Amino acid sequence: MSTDIQDASDRQWLADLRATLTDDHAAQTVRLTELTADTGDPGEAHTRGALIAATRMSLARIVDALGRIEDGRYGACERCGAQIPPERLEVVPHARFCMPCQQKHHG
Ligand SMILES: [Zn+2]
Repeated sequence: MSTDIQDASDRQWLADLRATLTDDHAAQTVRLTELTADTGDPGEAHTRGALIAATRMSLARIVDALGRIEDGRYGACERCGAQIPPERLEVVPHARFCMPCQQKHHG
């Protein structure tokens, strides 16, 4: 169990992170709307297909991360249960695995 002081700083950190993710979600939603707007150019539509898929994936990860913050599961590796270092979460806020598990996942 962590101390009250630790809990308070964790909550502040999570509140900041949640704000970042919420902003990111809004930005990605705007981007998706722009990407899916029909320009009538089939060539461009084809190119944008991959971008649309990537943006949707990114939105899904943000929603997932926000859900884990709500549940109080955020920041724990989903594979081994270890605490994911805050430095990593600052770079990859939607990270679901710790570094070793992420590497295993890709390798
Ligand atoms: Zn892990």
